[in-house]
Amino acid sequence: MGFGEPGEAEIRQIFEKSGAILSGHFILTSGRHSDTYVQCALVLQYPELAAQLCGVLAERFRGLNVNCVVGPALGGIIIAYEVARALGVRGIFTERVEGVMRLRRGFTVAPGERVLVVEDVVTTGGSVKEAAAAVAALGGEVVGFGALIDRSGGQARFDAPFAALLKVGAVTWEPDACPLCRQGVPAVKPGSRGLGA
Ligand SMILES: [Zn+2]
Repeated sequence: MGFGEPGEAEIRQIFEKSGAILSGHFILTSGRHSDTYVQCALVLQYPELAAQLCGVLAERFRGLNVNCVVGPALGGIIIAYEVARALGVRGIFTERVEGVMRLRRGFTVAPGERVLVVEDVVTTGGSVKEAAAAVAALGGEVVGFGALIDRSGGQARFDAPFAALLKVGAVTWEPDACPLCRQGVPAVKPGSRGLGA
C-alpha cells in the first residue's frame, strides 16, 4: 500500500464502526452459530467508504493492466463498480440465471481482455470462480481475484493472484456444539428484518 492509505487496523475499524463486522453470538441464515457476523452492505451504504475501501483493493492490482472488472451479483456489483472507477476501466457484473452464472444486459468481454473478478466477501470462492468461468468462456483472461473480506480461513484457492483487505474468522458451529451457547451467552439473529447473512 502506498503512503496515506489506511492500514489493516484502520480498515477493520471502518467495518466495525458501520456495523459491517460484529462480534458477539450470532445465528446465521444457515442456522449455524458464529462469534462473528459480516454484512458488507452496511459499510457500502456510505459511498465515500465504498470508494475508499475499493480504492485500496484496486491498488493491489494496479500493475496487472486490468481492462475490465467483473463482480457476481449482488455482492460484487458495488465492488466491481468502485474498483473499476479507481482503475479507470469498465465495471460490469454477472448474474446467476437458472443456476448458471453469466453476463447479461449486453455486458460482454472481448477475447484477450484482462479481467479482474471481485466480490464483497469470499467464503468458498464459488461465486467468483463461476464469474471467472463466464469471463473465460468469452475468451477473457482472468488476471486476478479480489475481495473486501476473506472469510475462507485460507481455504479458497484461485488460479490467479487473490487479495483481500481483511481476513475475518470463518469458524461456525452447529447449535448443539456452540461454545457460546454452552456459556449461556444470548444469541441474536442479525439482519432478520430483510438483510440476511
Ligand atoms: Zn450458539
